[in-house]
Amino acid sequence: MTSPGTARLKALDSDHHLHPFTDFKALSEEGSRIITAASGVYIQDADGQRMLDGMAGLWCVNLGYGRQELVDAASQQMTQLPYYNTFFKTAHPPAIELAAELCRLAPDHINHVFFTGSGSEANDTMLRMVRRFWALKGKPEKQWIISRENGYHGSTVAGMSLGGMAPMHEQGGPCVPGITHIRQPYWFGEGRDMNREEFGKVCADALEARILELGPDNVAAFLAEPVQGAGGAIMPPDSYWPAVKAVLEKYDILLVIDEVICGFGRLGEWFGSQHYDLKPDLMPIAKGLSSGYLPIGGVLVGDRIAETLVQEGGEFYHGFTYSGHPVCAAVALKTLEIMQRENIVERVRDDLGPYLAKRWATLADHPLVGEARSLGLMGALELVADKATGERFDSSLAVGSMCRDTCFDTGLVMRSVGDTMIISPPLVITHDEIDALVSLARAALDETA
Ligand code: PLP
Repeated sequence: MTSPGTARLKALDSDHHLHPFTDFKALSEEGSRIITAASGVYIQDADGQRMLDGMAGLWCVNLGYGRQELVDAASQQMTQLPYYNTFFKTAHPPAIELAAELCRLAPDHINHVFFTGSGSEANDTMLRMVRRFWALKGKPEKQWIISRENGYHGSTVAGMSLGGMAPMHEQGGPCVPGITHIRQPYWFGEGRDMNREEFGKVCADALEARILELGPDNVAAFLAEPVQGAGGAIMPPDSYWPAVKAVLEKYDILLVIDEVICGFGRLGEWFGSQHYDLKPDLMPIAKGLSSGYLPIGGVLVGDRIAETLVQEGGEFYHGFTYSGHPVCAAVALKTLEIMQRENIVERVRDDLGPYLAKRWATLADHPLVGEARSLGLMGALELVADKATGERFDSSLAVGSMCRDTCFDTGLVMRSVGDTMIISPPLVITHDEIDALVSLARAALDETA
């Protein structure tokens, strides 16, 4: 039953609010679901329906909802110093402490961070740093960034250009020049005519081929997510990353690993790159850094880049009003403190990730499911029209969206990317809540079938 208060909010939302990644007209006709409260791994809408948040908000509320310590950290910092910038040789304790703590937690070769307000800004910052680095090294022709089709790196002009989402490139362009995309290591979607590991090598070969096409002296960096998140929770074949690493080393090309989703425990390590034994030169971060409680991001900068930028760079003409915002930084610091105190990363690696893997895999027997995969606390289901052949549904049927809407109605937030259903729950989810998540997902599949 929709109350008059909720009806009013829905009407105002339809009339005035342009939502991100939304068909504005469709939303104004259908209305939105208004979320008003949350606790633990559950959110609640204005009609009083409770839903298990299988997406941790937007891959970010890693510590779950209702953490009073984070509220207190924000409140205390707001009282003490609600804002000051970090431009022009000023700083404040939260930004300094957070920088030091992040560098302590990061791999040994990373000892600097540049703060931003979001993951998109982090990728913009990374792009400018990469090109500046090579210019300072006397190789200004090293300009090209290679990233991947269907990768996601944000929504600013540089972020969407770096990302490989074709519909984004088509709107409001042109894209930033000097960025090119190669195929993604998406075995279920694109590689089933060969075995998984063979396909991983083919995708790494595509990187080498593109480098040779552009000329290795013109290529600055390769950018990728450890596991593609928004593209569909795509875990690459085991053969992929070692082969990519070898190619980059061969041609002296920087490795940028976008840790905006995979960082801060999602894959059972502090950084997703550690799961794949990668040594990135730069790592854009955001989301889980503050558990989504306040907006903050940054770029973790490896020593090779930092030494050049610091020693030879002069002034770096770049930064944001909210770079290192004190309240966001205080909440991020508290987030990192809680994560360590509660052994969140270890719990995902040793307990919750394996438990989810076991339970999630049970969905593979469902007639709609062509593949059920997970790593750490990220999972995906590939919906298929024919289980025996793996044939997909006609996209006009929008089966994934139907399944997502059914999930909402049955009390679970799952996301759909085409016909791939995704979960990325808070990292504090319990075994019982994982059981509930899997039961709700099965109920939604039954309903969709
Ligand atoms: N990079 C990755 C891997 C992301 O998943 C996202 C957002 O989902 C971004 C960058 C952009 O972050 P933001 O939305 O904070 O700008």
